[in-house]
Amino acid sequence: MTLLRVENLKVHYYTLSGIVRAVDGVSLSIEKGEWLSVVGESGCGKSTLAYAILRLVPPPGRIVSGRILLDGTDLLRLGGEEMRRVRGSRISMVFQDPMTSLDPLRKIGDQIVEAIVEHEELDVREARKRAEELLASVGLTSDMVNRYPHQLSGGQRQRVTIAIAMSLNPSLLIADEPTTALDVIVQDRIMDLIEGFKAEGTSIMLVTHDLALAAERSDKIAIMYAGKIVEYGPVDEVIDSPMHPYSKALLESTPRLRGPKRLRYIPGYPPDLRRPPPGCRFHPRCEKALKICSQKEPEPRYLNGRMVACWLYSGEVG
Ligand code: SF4
Repeated sequence: MTLLRVENLKVHYYTLSGIVRAVDGVSLSIEKGEWLSVVGESGCGKSTLAYAILRLVPPPGRIVSGRILLDGTDLLRLGGEEMRRVRGSRISMVFQDPMTSLDPLRKIGDQIVEAIVEHEELDVREARKRAEELLASVGLTSDMVNRYPHQLSGGQRQRVTIAIAMSLNPSLLIADEPTTALDVIVQDRIMDLIEGFKAEGTSIMLVTHDLALAAERSDKIAIMYAGKIVEYGPVDEVIDSPMHPYSKALLESTPRLRGPKRLRYIPGYPPDLRRPPPGCRFHPRCEKALKICSQKEPEPRYLNGRMVACWLYSGEVG
């Protein structure tokens, strides 16, 4: 059953130097209990997409059009108070830097209790007991409630933010580069933790630049480039037989995955999203580019649960 469906979402930033089309017509869906990873280089719009789902795009950004359906309800039509209830109780988010969501001046326990009593009718004593249970669920001891964020390691702080995110049993957990600042061993443990919540039925949306990480954990994968999803499908199929030239290049430039020993370098840079190139946005960097690629944007083509937006497949897919 589909939990979240994003349809033709556009998010733009209105800056003094022009309109940045950070998310430009993105569509995707997440089933109940499914793990979707959105993968792409820095600046491709993947974090903006995550913020937009929670309607937390910071100014000068604005959701311009599209629909975000959670169990059939369009989140873009909800009032401020209804949306506040959705945040936390239906959809939670974990950020790259836990210090952006933790108050450095307040004890961990107080911060978890506050998150709980804001949404649930529990008294402080019950909420405190729940806070200790939550800390245990993320592998932390109950004495952590009396500590301040700076008294914890980076991995412990991220566990705390995951405990807060999971405090109201959300249907969807969005994790935006949650392990980028952590070493590989702690990264693995945090991912195990998130996978444990998935096993209990929570859907996961992981936003990451790390294709290897996404390949290890996801059910589905969406490859994003310059504000658009260029390929989307079951993780094994996308990793084993990528269709889009950007997906292939990304895979060949990723260590730890199957493929040639020498890593590939993707020439050039992602485009300035104030002035994206015409046609396919990847064409200035694509070694397979055709004449049409710089003239006309490829439409997404669908086949057996996969999607690819590339002129190479215009006659073969769909
Ligand atoms: Fe390359 Fe053309 Fe496909 Fe874009 S549409 S990825 S430029 S072949």
